[in-house]
Amino acid sequence: MSRRGDADAIIERLAALRGEDPPTHGGRVLSYVYDPGLGELDLLVARAVQAALPVNGLDPTTFGSVGVLEAELVGFMRELLHGDEGVVGSATSGGTESCLLAVKTARDVWRRTHPDGRPRLVAPVTVHAAFQKAAAYFDLVLDLVPVSPEGVVSAADVVARLGDDVALVVVSAPNYPFAGLDPVGEVAAAASAASIPVHVDACIGGLVLPFWTDDAGAPLPAWDFRVPGVTSISADLHKYGYAPKGVSVLLQRGRDRQRHQYFATTRWPGYPVVNPTMLGSKSASPLAAGWAIAEWLGADGFAELAASTARSTRALRTVVAGIEGLRVVGDPVGPLFAVTADERVPPERRVDPHHWADAVRRHGFVLQLQPALAQPDGPQLPPTTHLTVTPVTESVLGELSTALVAGADAVRGVPHVDGAALLAGLPPLDPAALDSDTAWGLLQGVGIGGAGELPDAQAPLVALIEALPAPVAERLLVELLGRLVEPRG
Ligand SMILES: *Cc1c(COP(=O)(O)O)cnc(C)c1O
Repeated sequence: MSRRGDADAIIERLAALRGEDPPTHGGRVLSYVYDPGLGELDLLVARAVQAALPVNGLDPTTFGSVGVLEAELVGFMRELLHGDEGVVGSATSGGTESCLLAVKTARDVWRRTHPDGRPRLVAPVTVHAAFQKAAAYFDLVLDLVPVSPEGVVSAADVVARLGDDVALVVVSAPNYPFAGLDPVGEVAAAASAASIPVHVDACIGGLVLPFWTDDAGAPLPAWDFRVPGVTSISADLHKYGYAPKGVSVLLQRGRDRQRHQYFATTRWPGYPVVNPTMLGSKSASPLAAGWAIAEWLGADGFAELAASTARSTRALRTVVAGIEGLRVVGDPVGPLFAVTADERVPPERRVDPHHWADAVRRHGFVLQLQPALAQPDGPQLPPTTHLTVTPVTESVLGELSTALVAGADAVRGVPHVDGAALLAGLPPLDPAALDSDTAWGLLQGVGIGGAGELPDAQAPLVALIEALPAPVAERLLVELLGRLVEPRG
């Protein structure tokens, strides 16, 4: 058997490439990664991943282990989210797939009684982009309800959009951009009176909100299957379930309803295809890891980790509240929050959240920039910087707090990047006419995308996104990401 390379050298190269990534452990990246800060848990995950690696999760009738792991994980989540025996579910490859399948199910249920129409999906603007993707993939009209500048949606505004063409209403517990807990109870009561299903997107909150209280220590309003009108919930094991990427759960109330999630066909010459999820052949490793963690931690273990996360979240919010020129947006619930410039102080004392994120990065912590957003029929949402807090944060709390303060001191008074000025001189762009080379040339013209490198400061890139019409920004970003994975000469 001929070999082109040497195994050690290959792995060494992989390690070197990984070494260039921001650290996934240790609390230095406050988005994307969820570190419980437990070495023992990492070892458990590695063993579970290894044990399940060769299995094909496609077929639990062949690989019975997969069916058992999935049934037990779904059972654990159903109990946590107060579902009764009428609640069934699936393990999926992640939050996006759970959201896509919630929408696909609702669309197919709706179509039974509306064979000719095009259904509508109603959700607050703050709903995760996965639902925009679902509407695009499954051809629903996306009806986004504007939120206040603090990111809060009014239940009445959502309820006012309900109608016979609505296949699904989605609310979040909490939403990703600002961590607002949507008015699940009020929306679900009105929707269920109109026989409209309600999905609660608890992708990020599903394994922490069950252990969370409000800032006064009181229980949160019910948002899970205790609310009668809630028909489905998504919860990601690869977020606060601390599993490696590739596992989430979609729970649905009612077997008959959930069967619309499946795709089945016997109409080809191969094996019968019966898939509850979008993939065919799939790894069982993330499922095995998520299951192993749930077995190992149990609800009490998750509760302890959530308590640590809650202490850190409150400490960090207090730090931000003490920084002149910055403030927390809205009334976040759960281990995440967004920060914006404090308009109550004069401009020369304000801290632009994007310059702040770039400055904090120079102090060794990666925060996430969120662009300002113009809502077509609502107020403008300000530029913000997002922080997701995890259990490991508590071990770096002092250093992180210092970085947040020092970062603000470094950029106080520096105005938000003027995206319009960056664009000056560009002719109006028609995204439909923008070909790949032109798009790439435009990006390079504004100093983005040389030699596969992303710029160190992200504030200008986000300002560009804010200034461009969305279809143009989207086309340019597609180009950027497309070029990133082209073979390099
Ligand atoms: C992360 C997230 C999603 C999408 O999940 P992925 O796992 O990234 O596909 C959906 N909704 C919310 C609220 C999330 O935080």
